[in-house]
Amino acid sequence: RAIVRELDRIKEQNPAMVSGGVPVQEIDPTLFESRFLKTIRDLGEGHFGKVELCLYDPHGDHSGQKVAVKSLKSESDGPDCSNLRREINTMRELYHSNIVKYKGICTEEGGRTIKLIMEYLPAGSLKDYLPRHKAQTSQQRLLLYAIQICQGMDYLGSQNYIHRDLAARNVLVESETLVKIGDFGLTKSIKDNEEYYTVREEQDSPVYWYAPECLIHRKFYKASDVWSFGVTLYELMTYCDRKMSPPEMFLNTIGRSHGQMTMARLVKSLEGGWRLSCPPSCPDKVYIQMRRCWAHAPEDRVDFKGLIKEFECLLS
Ligand code: ADP
Ligand code: MG
Repeated sequence: RAIVRELDRIKEQNPAMVSGGVPVQEIDPTLFESRFLKTIRDLGEGHFGKVELCLYDPHGDHSGQKVAVKSLKSESDGPDCSNLRREINTMRELYHSNIVKYKGICTEEGGRTIKLIMEYLPAGSLKDYLPRHKAQTSQQRLLLYAIQICQGMDYLGSQNYIHRDLAARNVLVESETLVKIGDFGLTKSIKDNEEYYTVREEQDSPVYWYAPECLIHRKFYKASDVWSFGVTLYELMTYCDRKMSPPEMFLNTIGRSHGQMTMARLVKSLEGGWRLSCPPSCPDKVYIQMRRCWAHAPEDRVDFKGLIKEFECLLS
């Protein structure tokens, strides 16, 4: 009904459209036509997908808008394609000031290939931004980012989604005072009567951000996202210094030459109580919150609402 009303409103404003008999499709603002989409440059590349900065320029006079476009590296309709379609369906349902905005899709070859169109955040991910803006980013500011990430995650959980890939590389910077969660490529929906999601596919996962239950039982709870948030908070407090990254720290501890054994060693270390140590110049009170995210049992961990309260206290 709301769509019909919207269409009526658009027709009133553009009487030509009605008389011209323009099909509904052409005025759906979430359908982007591939012929108007011009690639400007690459923004990032993952295992199966890539993200490009594009100009969507239907008038062809460079008056268009910049958008971020995620597509598959190989044009296929295999499992990767269904992952991207699932990511699109997830993003389409999320509305929150700390979550990257979905803009629409672009289909080609009669719907055989699909691209995800999102708002473009010029400052990139925290992993790109923080090392370069260390001097002007205070610890207070880092805590503000932490609160915003928790707010986005609390909302995601309230919609019964588990992110499964929360990390600094997947948090994007809108401005000095606003960050947003992106990359919903691994996000899974849990049904209301379930408490966790079980991984079926053997994908390479961001293991150094994962809680023990994810590594051992392949089960993901909302509390598993809290663990990953703890690792993300650790990254924030190191300003995403590569020399102190979670994989670096772990490999420094156990040594590098274990090949296939690395995963087993990671699990063993975590079960034995090994945790990332307090980053240099990180206040104890912040490190205490990381440790509350890293309780071995999911039920013993703090939740996102609890974290927001703690950070707000620290900031006031
Ligand atoms: P992947 O699934 O390949 O990890 P991401 O969605 O995380 O894909 O995007 C990869 C990288 O591209 C990000 O780490 C970020 O640097 C950049 N990027 C992604 N989306 C945007 C966006 N909307 N605006 C600006 N940069 C983005
Ligand atoms: Mg990513």
